Amino acid sequence: MLQTLKNYFGYTSFRPHQQEIITHVMKGEDSLALMPTGGGKSICYQLPALLLEGTAVVISPLISLMKDQVDTLNANGIPAGALNSRNSESENMTLRRKYIEGKIKLLYISPERLLTEMEYLFQEFRISLFAIDEAHCISQWGHDFRPEYNQLKIIKRNHPDVPVIALTATADKITRQDILQQLNLRSPRTFITSFDRPNLNLTVKTGLSGSDKNRSIIEFIRNHPGESWIIYCLSRSNTEKVAETLRKNGIAGGVYHAGLSNLQREKTQNDFINDRIQVVCATIAFGIGIDKSNVRWGMHYNLPKSIESFYQEIGRAGRDGMKSETILFYSLADLILLTKFANDSGQQTMNLEKLQRMQQYAEADICRRRILLNYFGESMDCDCGNCDVCRNPPERFDGTIIVQKALSAIIRTEQKASTRQLIDILRGNFTKEITEKGFEKLKTFGAGRDIPGRDWQNYLVQMLHLGYVEIAYNKNNYLKITSSGKEVLYGREKAMLVTIKQEEFIPRKGRKKKTIPQGIPGTVKELILQNKDELLFKKLRALRKKLAEEMALPPYIILTDKVFKTLCDHKPTTVEEFGEVNGIGEYKKEKYGKIFTRTIKEHVKEG
Ligand code: ADP
Ligand code: MG
Ligand code: ZN
Repeated sequence: MLQTLKNYFGYTSFRPHQQEIITHVMKGEDSLALMPTGGGKSICYQLPALLLEGTAVVISPLISLMKDQVDTLNANGIPAGALNSRNSESENMTLRRKYIEGKIKLLYISPERLLTEMEYLFQEFRISLFAIDEAHCISQWGHDFRPEYNQLKIIKRNHPDVPVIALTATADKITRQDILQQLNLRSPRTFITSFDRPNLNLTVKTGLSGSDKNRSIIEFIRNHPGESWIIYCLSRSNTEKVAETLRKNGIAGGVYHAGLSNLQREKTQNDFINDRIQVVCATIAFGIGIDKSNVRWGMHYNLPKSIESFYQEIGRAGRDGMKSETILFYSLADLILLTKFANDSGQQTMNLEKLQRMQQYAEADICRRRILLNYFGESMDCDCGNCDVCRNPPERFDGTIIVQKALSAIIRTEQKASTRQLIDILRGNFTKEITEKGFEKLKTFGAGRDIPGRDWQNYLVQMLHLGYVEIAYNKNNYLKITSSGKEVLYGREKAMLVTIKQEEFIPRKGRKKKTIPQGIPGTVKELILQNKDELLFKKLRALRKKLAEEMALPPYIILTDKVFKTLCDHKPTTVEEFGEVNGIGEYKKEKYGKIFTRTIKEHVKEG
């Protein structure tokens, strides 16, 4: 098994559970494998497919996902194909013939097609195993229910002796049981891998206004030229606005949402996969079709509606296991909007509960990874050291006076002000809304002028979290005081607030040293900052881009950034040494060894 792993995939060891799962499938048994996004599910059925006689049939929900997988397999010298509606009928015929002749090891297929092919194509020929990828689509309880997945029980009915492996990154218990039951698996084993993705850094930024968010995003992107980003937004119009802001700042970005035509969406996805654009601003619809391994950043412009969606989305960063960053922007306005959606959703109780858990994550003052893993039923025995709370433990100060100012203003509005109006009152802003309601006459008007609006936002989030105020979601989102709020207001309790750190926002002028001047494209900055290895990295990337264009393949399918990193560290100059790098199998060694080591040799000579 290890030999095959190295030969075909170039890896020297298995990730947790992979070997057990593979052994189980090889014995002809059924199983359900749960692993986080990027955990390495594919190898669990691809390796047995290579070792067993016959062809593995893989059911996959999306054509783009099938294509990505087939390209990756072919790039490793493994014969595989996808039967789907995008191919011409003659392409599909050729593929069927190859399958009948036993010439392909893996055949990808959509669930609806499986049903029609079941009758004859899959009747007589030897099937090594069935793999059902993204198996949570079977369940109504999962978040991507697909009616076509409902009929997959036909697999066990028609092929009781062929092993079936269902794979998903959705951990929740009901979904799990539903998958087992609906597929009618025979005494299946369930393998659950830790959901921890230690290479993902977790950060939350609270209470930034739209323009502050944009400024931070631009600064981040400028400081990380050449890296790929996904920015998740709540609404279509937000994706457009963010992309527009990026464009104005010279950053190539695309949008992806359900309101675009298939063609437009495909273009964005292809541009991103092929490294033609650096950033995609997407609604959640930009999703499971992406296996791009070198996404370095996952950013949430808005609060997600549940921890499941959040985790799936940030999971698209750092699939190659390299350090990657995730940033969530949290604001009360989003919380209010999402609460409204949840209330109107028809599944009010469940959705509100999910949103609350998301809110707890965003407002946490303990290790954020603990909260995430806890949600998935895992517990950690120490803090992670790779989230903003761990790196910068919150410091508290006596914020009683600040809290009293806010609470007293709330009382004086007779609890009839929204968050925004309250901040305007505290700051003494004469806006139309304020004067219409006569709030400028309140005694507390302007009482919090010394604190910037964005800090008030942050403090109000904290007050909500500490239980001093509530938002009346059913009454114009007015702020209400709770009984523990009254304790603080009347001086019977102290309120300890968390100090807002300066780096929470990017000041208007920019921090001179780290920011690069406006208008200078990333590549130039790269030239200014690079050291020698970075230069080699760039040369390798350029070579890869050229090859990728010639072969019409996404660059990461040729070689991953992670492989490049090893190449930069070890600088192999012979094909043999090249082949020893983790992630390079026999096929890639033969195919790319010469050309890449030539570039490395030249680089070493010049250095
Ligand atoms: P998912 O669980 O999301 O389907 P994939 O199967 O796409 O994850 O794997 C994610 C990445 O991890 C891929 O780049 C894959 O090549 C890599 N990977 C899988 N198994 C191993 C391993 N044993 N060693 C190193 N990398 C691996
Ligand atoms: Mg997968
Ligand atoms: Zn932590």
